[in-house]
Amino acid sequence: MTSTGPMQGKGVCSMSRKDWKLVISVLGSLSGKHKDVLAAMVGLGVLAGARPFIAVILTGMLVDAVYGGRELGELLRYVAVGVGVTFVIQILEGIMTMFFNRKLEYMQEIQAGPLNEKSMEMDYEYLENAEVQEMRQRVERLGGWSLTAQMLSTLNKITRNLTAVAVAVVVAVPMLFRGSHSLSRGFAGSWLMAVLFLAAVMLLILLEFKLGRYFNRKVAESRQQMSGYENRKKYYLEILSEPEKQKDLRICRQQGLYEKEFADVARGIRSTAGKVAKHVCCSISVEQTISAFTGFLVYAFAGLLACGGMISIGGVVTYAASVLKFTESMGSLVYQLSWLGGNVARARDYTDYMALPQRKHAGTIPVEKRRDDRFTVEFDHVSFRYPGTETYVIRDLSLKFEIGEKMAIVGRNGSGKSTFIKLLCRLYDVTEGCIRVNGIDIRKYNYGEYSDLFAVVFQDFQVFAFPLGENVAAGFAVEEERAKDALERAGMGERCRRLEAGLSACIGKEFAEEGVTFSGGEKQKIAIARAIYKNAPFVIMDEPTAALDPESECEVYAGFDRMVGRKTAIYISHRLASCRFCQDILVFDQGKVVQRGRHEELEEQDGLYRELWNAQAQYYA
Ligand code: ADP
Repeated sequence: MTSTGPMQGKGVCSMSRKDWKLVISVLGSLSGKHKDVLAAMVGLGVLAGARPFIAVILTGMLVDAVYGGRELGELLRYVAVGVGVTFVIQILEGIMTMFFNRKLEYMQEIQAGPLNEKSMEMDYEYLENAEVQEMRQRVERLGGWSLTAQMLSTLNKITRNLTAVAVAVVVAVPMLFRGSHSLSRGFAGSWLMAVLFLAAVMLLILLEFKLGRYFNRKVAESRQQMSGYENRKKYYLEILSEPEKQKDLRICRQQGLYEKEFADVARGIRSTAGKVAKHVCCSISVEQTISAFTGFLVYAFAGLLACGGMISIGGVVTYAASVLKFTESMGSLVYQLSWLGGNVARARDYTDYMALPQRKHAGTIPVEKRRDDRFTVEFDHVSFRYPGTETYVIRDLSLKFEIGEKMAIVGRNGSGKSTFIKLLCRLYDVTEGCIRVNGIDIRKYNYGEYSDLFAVVFQDFQVFAFPLGENVAAGFAVEEERAKDALERAGMGERCRRLEAGLSACIGKEFAEEGVTFSGGEKQKIAIARAIYKNAPFVIMDEPTAALDPESECEVYAGFDRMVGRKTAIYISHRLASCRFCQDILVFDQGKVVQRGRHEELEEQDGLYRELWNAQAQYYA
């Protein structure tokens, strides 16, 4: 994994050129074709940054006009212009805000697109990697904000503050020079005083920057901790809305355990949220104290200028308000830049997540299309341990099998049967050794084409809250007759004929009131129909009849030959009796094949098979 992690490397709040490039490229890629949102954010920032100065300038002009004894008509003209311009700007701001808000939620969806695609395409093992899942969680939503929304909002604030700083400089600086501004009556004071004043203001801004950066780093660190808790919370909340999980939870009386775990997460969130609140509070207090001090300094300086006759009374108002706006905007700018530092960490998470290597894309060789479906599979000294674990669950396994055979895999729980299937289907890559199909290392094949070789019914198969037809056709177009035939062959024909909506019936009631709740056995038959529909050369059934009643089990086994035809079928089953019809039975023990042969041969031998057979036989005696 290439992750540098958000808190690793440089401090989160220092933005290098590389960081800026990263933010801009991520913002560009996330907003995609919706550059109008970016433009609206910048436009909104410019208008919001400039608007307060209309009042600042006009107030100064009005004060001077009153002191200068101008006519009421002229005063009213000033007011009318000020109100008119402010009104137009606010209308524009309102339109842009409306446009932006409408798109903000949508931006979340835009961001979700590539993220979801990545999650579905990434190497399977990353789905079990907590660090990767937390990374996704951080990118997806943190504190209720999507990365895109937070970046856009920060960009808006930066533009607003930059504009305010620029306008403040344009308004205030010329006032210090004689005749260069309509409000000034000249600058005759000492340069030293001006320089001292400027230095003091800059020092305060720097102090605010340093302290702001410190507190923001603390906030970012706490939020980082929060993502781990939020990941767990998401998992626990999902349990609450899943009847299947609730069933076990209730019957096994695990509510207490659930509450304990949830309370643990809640405690974690509360404590990290407390830290966030503390640091945000410190940051605000520091900002307000420094602002108050700066305000005092600015008014004192403006007062001095006015006493010395260097600026008018109205000038004091305009000058002080502009300088204060300048310092306030500089402070906010610094704060926003350090916020952006936090977003850089999330942007890095995003790019790291999107760049997670996809080993399966390394293979390019097309899979040979064989009309006779004859493929040879060879495990050559294969050993495997799950990522992040030390124990080998498959040990130096070597075996070969021809397609067209019916093969059964039997063995105790945990002996590596399902793992063997996962390796064959390339959900995981071998740790040592090599698996070959038709003499070629399976890692060299184009992954998509290789996956097409297998139709698998996993032990923990899943059907989804989609229409029945789509569940059966899965990745392929729904062909009505073919889907009905597959359901018929899986033993679901009669049940489906009773469905009013036929293949359009939605599975489950999650999204449709009229959805159909199927039993566990029926769902398993749907999963079997899905495997039949795929019409792949290999049919793999991991405990294919676990959820079926004895009648359905007989039906399914009797129909297996018809179902799989000349294809290669691999069955994993605990019920040895159901495997008797296979020509080739592999007996797994601790990650190795300890026996292999036909039922009659294995039954004769002194070994694990006979042991397991006898253990089961006594229940049937
Ligand atoms: P079987 O199908 O024979 O019951 P499995 O192949 O499912 O056995 O499991 C073999 C061993 O691998 C077991 O000890 C199990 O705990 C371990 N195992 C299975 N899946 C994982 C996983 N995702 N991560 C770590 N260990 C696993």
